[in-house]
Amino acid sequence: MNNVASIATDDVRELYRELILDHARKPRHFGRLEDATHTAEGINPLCGDKLKLYIELDDSGVIRDAAFEGSGCAISVASASLLTDTVIGLPVAAAVHWFENVTAILTSDSSDPTIDLGKLHALEGVREFPSRVKCATLSWHALNSALENDKTPATTE
Ligand code: ZN
Repeated sequence: MNNVASIATDDVRELYRELILDHARKPRHFGRLEDATHTAEGINPLCGDKLKLYIELDDSGVIRDAAFEGSGCAISVASASLLTDTVIGLPVAAAVHWFENVTAILTSDSSDPTIDLGKLHALEGVREFPSRVKCATLSWHALNSALENDKTPATTE
């Protein structure tokens, strides 16, 4: 009998689901950033998600502010909201590291126990829905494009 363990897992799942829904309903840092130094657009044609990501770097290469606007499904909006929450205050290299970790977790079959996702673990549940993985990775690809100053829209295709 491992009822206790399975109940705990369900609780965690529920918590993550709530976190996703909360960010989808009330996206953080939603809107335009007038002082953006880096921007990128992201398009996921499979689902119809479209967003524009704004990043403001300070002189030392730290992300002072981040915001996004656009429209998409709950997962794409929640992921972008969690992204902005995560990267504000980080140096560029650390933000790129998050991009690599999140895309690795979402697109591989096995969890890498060396990666500590923190609250971004909420996104890991999306792996159970392969058709929605691109919704979750879209904003992260846009982040990477923005930081590389790549002007072509990031697309999940
Ligand atoms: Zn979507």
